[in-house]
Amino acid sequence: MLSQVVFTLLLIGAGLLFFYHIRLLRKTLSIGRPADLPGPSWKRWAQMIRVAILQERMMDKPVASAAHWVIYVGFIVINVEVAEIILDGITGGHRTLAPYLGRLYDGMTLAAEVFLAFVFIAAGVFLWRRNILRVARFHTPEMRGWPPLDANIILWTEIVLVLALLFMNAADQLLQERGVSPYFRVGTFPVSRWIAPLLGDLSDTSLIAVERTAWWLHILGILAFLNYIPFSKHLHIFLSFPNTYYASLEPAGKVDSLPQVTAVVKEALGFPVESQSESPSPLLGAKDVTDLTWKNLLDAYTCTECGRCTAVCPANITGRKLSPRKIMMDTRDRLEEIKKKLHKNGRWEPDGKSLLGDYITPEEIWACTTCNACVRACPVLINPVSIILQLRQHLVMEASQAPETLNVLFVNLENNGSPWALPSVDRAKWIDSLS
Ligand code: SF4
Ligand code: SF4
Repeated sequence: MLSQVVFTLLLIGAGLLFFYHIRLLRKTLSIGRPADLPGPSWKRWAQMIRVAILQERMMDKPVASAAHWVIYVGFIVINVEVAEIILDGITGGHRTLAPYLGRLYDGMTLAAEVFLAFVFIAAGVFLWRRNILRVARFHTPEMRGWPPLDANIILWTEIVLVLALLFMNAADQLLQERGVSPYFRVGTFPVSRWIAPLLGDLSDTSLIAVERTAWWLHILGILAFLNYIPFSKHLHIFLSFPNTYYASLEPAGKVDSLPQVTAVVKEALGFPVESQSESPSPLLGAKDVTDLTWKNLLDAYTCTECGRCTAVCPANITGRKLSPRKIMMDTRDRLEEIKKKLHKNGRWEPDGKSLLGDYITPEEIWACTTCNACVRACPVLINPVSIILQLRQHLVMEASQAPETLNVLFVNLENNGSPWALPSVDRAKWIDSLS
């Protein structure tokens, strides 16, 4: 009974803590501007199914794709067993689902065991790629300190959780064979049966201790993992679904014009300024995360730090000071700074810092060629270019800090109506060469 009470209190505490952090995350996202997301919802659902569920954008790297698939499907399959652990913890029962599922229960334990083995191998493959094979995109300058540690913590946690379940099942089946109550005969354990001989010499009491320790280790690990996720890049296991749903349906590379500028140009040309969205507003571009849209902010929290964007970025490849992954990580770091203040004070007040300047430098954003290779490479439809362009818009239109080469272009556009330093009266001269 005591263990049921302790378990239930821990479960409620961990659930409430997780709920609090998700609410805080939502509040942090809400500091962003509204996002204009045109397109029918059926297309959005289709996009989410293709990209987040079927993971179509990961297929180009077969090893990483297969390992990621195994962990993703394994997470779902193994969680059925976790649901039973929670039921057992609350009711004080043992393998509570078995009497209700009958033969299906054997299938469930079989599937869970097979995926436990696969997840173990897949986590090992990821650790090997990161730490031994040292895949280049995991070792760029922005991937120092916390980011690689975060990835390794998660992978090692997965391995510990898998081993806990396998040892729990191994001890359980030995106790079943010995007829120790309440370990009645049930389940199929094709993987943990290979571990069972390691425990074969233990007494019944020691076996029960191993089974209980593994049980507690697994469930406490799950609850800790749940509350670690809001601070980790692994938020993508939840956020990749809304992020792909709300991702733009427009062709990559389409640049949204600023409504304020459109309104001014229309007015200058004598066209009526109809819609409210085109009415002038003081904000041009973005200086801080509060000037970006909530979708830009959701992008930052969804970033898996995989580095596929940086690996294909021509600016980065040619040694310029730009990494689209760093743009997303910086945006998230700035958001985390604001989130801490929201947690402490309940509200956000400007602190004199900003994304542009304190986190991202003008040199980085002007290095972008707007080729959109990063957008096409991202497995969860993140758009770093959108942030880069808004920061540039701020520099040009609010801070008047365009690079010299652009200033020449602006002057030419203003004087000649074209980017070239040629008078507009000569524009039709090429026709003469045809006669
Ligand atoms: S759009 Fe910019 S950031 Fe993205 S890949 Fe091209 S140059 Fe790099
Ligand atoms: S933006 Fe996309 S591709 Fe780039 S690191 Fe993040 S998840 Fe990976």
